[in-house]
Parts: sequence; C-alpha cells; structure tokens
Amino acid sequence: MHRTHTCGELTIADLGKEVVLSGWVQKSRDLGGMTFIDVRDRYGITQLVFNADDDAELRATARDLGREFVIKVTGTVIERTNKNPKMPTGDIEIKVSKLEVLNAAKLPPFLIEDETDGGDDLRMKYRYLDLRRNPVRNNLVLRHKMAQEIRKYLDSNNFIEVETPYLIKSTPEGARDFVVPSRMNPGEFYALPQSPQTFKQLLMVSGFDRYFQIVKCFRDEDLRADRQPEFTQIDCEMSFIEQEDILNLFEGLTRHMFKTVKGLDIAEFPRMSYDEAMRLYGSDKPDTRFGMQFVDITEIGKGKGFPVFDNADIVIGINAKSSASYTRKQLDELTDFVKRPQIGATGMIYMRHNEDGSLKSSVDKFFNEEELKKWSEAFQTEPGDLILILAGQNKDKVRKQLNELRLEMGNRLGLRDKNKFAPLWVVDFPLLEWDEETERYHAMHHPFTSPKPDDIAKLDTDPGAVRANAYDLVINGTEIGGGSIRIHDRELQSLMFKHLGFSPEEAQKQFGFLMDAFEFGAPPHGGIAFGFDRLVSIFAGLDTIRDVIAFPKNNSGRDVMIDAPSTIDEKQKEELSIKTTV
Ligand code: ASP
Repeated sequence: MHRTHTCGELTIADLGKEVVLSGWVQKSRDLGGMTFIDVRDRYGITQLVFNADDDAELRATARDLGREFVIKVTGTVIERTNKNPKMPTGDIEIKVSKLEVLNAAKLPPFLIEDETDGGDDLRMKYRYLDLRRNPVRNNLVLRHKMAQEIRKYLDSNNFIEVETPYLIKSTPEGARDFVVPSRMNPGEFYALPQSPQTFKQLLMVSGFDRYFQIVKCFRDEDLRADRQPEFTQIDCEMSFIEQEDILNLFEGLTRHMFKTVKGLDIAEFPRMSYDEAMRLYGSDKPDTRFGMQFVDITEIGKGKGFPVFDNADIVIGINAKSSASYTRKQLDELTDFVKRPQIGATGMIYMRHNEDGSLKSSVDKFFNEEELKKWSEAFQTEPGDLILILAGQNKDKVRKQLNELRLEMGNRLGLRDKNKFAPLWVVDFPLLEWDEETERYHAMHHPFTSPKPDDIAKLDTDPGAVRANAYDLVINGTEIGGGSIRIHDRELQSLMFKHLGFSPEEAQKQFGFLMDAFEFGAPPHGGIAFGFDRLVSIFAGLDTIRDVIAFPKNNSGRDVMIDAPSTIDEKQKEELSIKTTV
C-alpha cells in the first residue's frame, strides 16, 4: 500500500494513528538530533519527524533526502509542540518508523515554491515541475471546476455534448489555418478547425436542437498574452431561437459560473450597441469597470484658430478624475505613450481643473477662460480633475488611440481591479468590415452570420451600414465570447458569399456542403462560443491565458519542453508527398 492518507488531511483528530504517506520532499531541516521533513502531494503538506534518539540510522537516511525525492513513510500521528495554525495539518506531525525512497530526484532547476526563482523560459522547459507549484496547479483545478459547472448547466438545459472532427476543411474564422498533409491522398491537406462552426450548424440541420462542446480550436495567428495557437472554446448552437434566447441562456451560464465558482452574485448584464461602444469607449470590448467615457468636443473645439483642432474631424477626450496634480513629467509620459508607433497619435492636449477652480490648458494661447469653461462643462469636471484630449482626421483611429489612453489611465489610477467583474453584451455589430489591405469587405464575425432583416436591402447600396444579428460577451475589457444568428437559407448564404467576393464556383467548392444542407430542411438557428481559457484566466485574476493551460506554447508558438515544432525525416516527407524549401 502506498498511502493510507494524503498529505493534506491528517489533523489532531487522527492522533495516535499508524499511517502511510507518500509524496515529494518539499524541504528538510535539522534541529539538534532531529530532522524535520515536509512531504507534499496535490492535497497538502505534512511534517515528518525523525529523531536520532529513537533511530539514528533512520534519521541519517532522512538527512540525505534531497528536494523533490519521492518517498513513502510509515509512522504515528503525534501532536506538534510547535504548531502551525496556517496549515490544515499544522497541529500534527508524523513520527516516522519506516522510510522508503521511491525515486530520487536531481536538484530541480528552480524552486518548487509559490514564489519561485525560475524565469519563464526555464519554467516552460520544465513545465512538469512548474505544475507542481501551488499557484499553477490551482489554476488548473479552477479550470477543471469551471468545466464541470459548464457541463452541469448546459446539460440541465438540454444541451448535448457532441464531438466534431479535427481533420477537416478550412473554416473561415479570419485566421490562417494549420494544415495536415494526407498520406492517403497525396498533395491534399486537411485543415485543423479554427472552430467547429460549420459542423455545429450541420448538427442543427440534423435536428440536435441544442449542442455544445468544450473543444480545441486552432488558429495560426501572431501570439499575444491572450492568444495561443491552440485554445479551447465552449462552443454552442441552438435551433428555433432568437438572439434574445441566446443572450439569456448564456448570461445565465456566466452568472451560474460566477455564483458556483466564485460565490458572486452578478447583476443583469447591461447591453450596448457596437456604435455606442465605439463612441463612448473607442472599443468593441469596453472595460466598464470604470467610467471615463469619451466626450466629443469637436463642435466647441473647432474654429478657434488652433490648427490641430481645426484640421481634425474629431476632437475627443476623457476626464481623468482627481488627476489635476499630474506633473509636467507625468503628462509628457502620457504624450509619449500616445505617440508610440503602436498607438500613433500625433500629440495630446490637456486641461487641468485646479483645486482653486482655475482652468489651465496646454493650449491657452488659443482658448481663453470662457472657452475652457465650455470644455469643463462638456466633461463635467470638478476641481482636481484633468482632461486629456486627442484629435485627428480618421474618427476610428482617434477613438482607438483614446481607448488606449483611457485604459492606461485606468491602470494608473488603479481602476482595473481584478476582483471586480463588469460583464456586458455588445450587440448590433456591423455585418461587414472594410479591409484596407485587400480593399474588400470581410465578414466581421464570419460569413454564416445573418444580417438584420431590415438591413438586407442595404447589402447592395451601403454594405458597411448593414448590421448583423451578432453579439459579444465582454468582461473587464476582454472579449469572452461571440456568436450570431445564422443564415439558414441557401439563397441568402450565396448572396453573402457574393458580397464577400467569392465567385459562385469558389463558394460551392468551399462551402457547398453547408449550402446543400440548407436545401434539406434547415431550422432557424444561432449560437455562441466562449473562449474558455480567457474565461478561466479572468476568474483566476491572471493577465495571460498561458497560466491556465497545462502545456502552453511560447510566443513563437513553440513547445520548448517537447521541442515542437520540429523537422521530420526525409522518408516521412516522401510518404506524404511533401518537399520543403528550407
Ligand atoms: N465560431 C464562432 C467563433 O469561433 C462562434 C460562433 O459564431 O458561434 O468565434
């Protein structure tokens, strides 16, 4: 027998019991003729004591144990003289009578402690050791709990979990595909799914009515903190529903998660149109944990002889409450921040509403006290406030720049509290988005999203103004999920492909299977997918999804532990009818 108990469960109630424990050596220390060893497993830590007076040989063996040795001990539960109230097992220790080394360990390359000395790269290379650390393991325990609650909720709402294939044909979610060569079909490739989108729609045609899957998706994109080449979605689809049904059901799921996993009651989620989100926050995923909404002063700013405003199509700003005391240096820092190439503003204008009531701007030359009063009114400033303004010609660009500045100020003012949760639905997205590079419209969500019926007529005349039956769930400035009511009619789907620049032949070749299916009785349907990794990372209060994935890739898409991707040998290439050019 390897153990009678785990390392996390013995307490004063177990005094006198003869027990067997197995686990890893966390640390050991000597005190006079005694050696104390902390033995650790997933459940906790228990202190072992070896006394030279009782058994000098056993104590000597114990002294030789190194960190992370795997051991098995037999002993008696005794009361500690020196109790540790911080540990569940802190009142007891095990007086060891027998010790067995199950596996010795090399000195680990970093400390297996909550606070470690290992850098990112080292911890990624030895991820299996990093996973021994409490904070990392706890993230995965949380992930597990969340997955269970999701299944419970969806099951109780009649959803059926169905697996869909990984070796498929391209799904258009807007990223590059990962492809897999087919040995049996030389020269042909599968694509890994960017999402199970077309399959879940086909399941609706099959009459499954309510489908879900916690599923891996693959997108070959540049990586960021919240992106991995393979990630997990909570993917869902429903038939005979309208947008409202989906929003209610998945708001319910999210609330259920907050309640069961974090013990939080979250109020009804506000809804905001895409237009409003862009106008007030410059982002379709606004962080609504704090206000600081955009104020448009284009009207009052223009025509006063200040060329920057006069030449601008939009002049907008934010009121950073209680920041009038910002020094010149801090303001310069903010100007440098918005001028960074990633943000691209040409400059920043500010106005202080000083504690003594006076108004002082960086453009006093052009705007007198009376004009500044108008600014103050527009921004509803109070003494102590600071207004930050950006201006420019391209409205979308300026809004995006101000969004960055708003988030930066939110960080600086400590308004983005990780323990506060502000979910909202963003609705009424545009159906199409103009792509400067290809000079074409692209589906903002994906090509299966239905236009709002009232807007279909505009598809030919003003495609950019057509709104979609699409919605996103946003929490704390992160897009957690998105979905839409789908097109379920062959004709409308063909029209959509036409507007996206597909020839009828191309559309048929790529998506004929779906359009064909629509001719065999397709129910009205719609769905949503949540980014599971992102949801877990928000619940865990983390900035990166990497920390909630057991074996993540680094920023170059590499798994440095197993060393993938890697080259394959010539014979394998030959079998696959593949030649490489590097
Ligand atoms: N397939 C979509 C996505 O991955 C989600 C959906 O429309 O249900 O974003």
